[in-house]
Amino acid sequence: MPKRLTIPTFIIVLLMMPQVFAQTKPKAVLVVHGGAGTILKEQMTDSIEKRYREKLSEALLEGQQVLRHGGTSVDAVTAVIEVLEDSPLFNAGKGAVFTAEGKNELDASIMDGGTGMAGAVASVTRVRNPIKAARAVMEDSEHVMMIGTGAEKFAASQGIEMVNEDYFFTQKRFDQHQKALGAAVQADPLQKKYGTVGAVALDRYGNLAAGTSTGGMTNKRFGRVGDAPIIGAGTYANNASCAVSATGHGEFFIRNVLAYDIAALMTYKNLTVEQAADAVVNGKLKAMSGGGGVIALDRDGNFAMPFNTPGMYRGFISMEGEPQVFIYGLEE
Ligand code: ASP
Repeated sequence: MPKRLTIPTFIIVLLMMPQVFAQTKPKAVLVVHGGAGTILKEQMTDSIEKRYREKLSEALLEGQQVLRHGGTSVDAVTAVIEVLEDSPLFNAGKGAVFTAEGKNELDASIMDGGTGMAGAVASVTRVRNPIKAARAVMEDSEHVMMIGTGAEKFAASQGIEMVNEDYFFTQKRFDQHQKALGAAVQADPLQKKYGTVGAVALDRYGNLAAGTSTGGMTNKRFGRVGDAPIIGAGTYANNASCAVSATGHGEFFIRNVLAYDIAALMTYKNLTVEQAADAVVNGKLKAMSGGGGVIALDRDGNFAMPFNTPGMYRGFISMEGEPQVFIYGLEE
């Protein structure tokens, strides 16, 4: 017969309850996204879905290796995004979408939550891995953002690989561009325009970092710059709160400084990372009819991956665990 709990034992059990529940929530050292949008199971084939899941897992494992070997969160974010930029699946690097003029103009940024330093490039057309150029701006220049041919000259001077513009041609993105040119009105601006990539990481030194890379929105006007390279809008990191990378309709993220808003809610209102990210994505952004999502990670490994679109390519990994990857809503 089980003995009845004495009052002191009962109090100890009660005190332990929050820890017990906290342990059931997974922790991460790395969280990744591959874009939010109208991603529906019924429009996906098994083989395409598999390719996305495999590539996101590969990127997470790559970043995990970096962190396990003592790399910094900035190293991990760069490594993860590089893998995704080299894949034609995502709207970043190789798979970047086309502008209305039929060009590929790429944006990227990175921020170190430990130092508060940041770097970004916008509208580059010849840099194979824009995230590397953004990192070079952060580490090897006095500036935060460089654009267009100036950014390309700087990247080349730092030994970063340059490619011909036709490197970014992929039939899938070109067909999307042609189709969008034909459509008079775009009811859903994120329809088939997803694929921006981003990563947030926490290293063994306790430092957070965030990075984002994109080709922007399909058929954007020439010279249009989205939120991805804007610090505080599409990317933000601060050890005191969290690291954030966003995807979605960039103009909303810029006008409302949404990545920073998540960090600010944590700092000034003491919200958890989940509460803050949810308040911004499913509260503020949704109320404005802005589509998108974010990944956010705090210094204790707590994270959130909210989105208000039908799907968002996303995943996370712990220092020792296996990659966990999701695509549609209600999957986790
Ligand atoms: N946020 C990106 C932009 O507006 C697009 C996306 O995430 O799909 O450029």
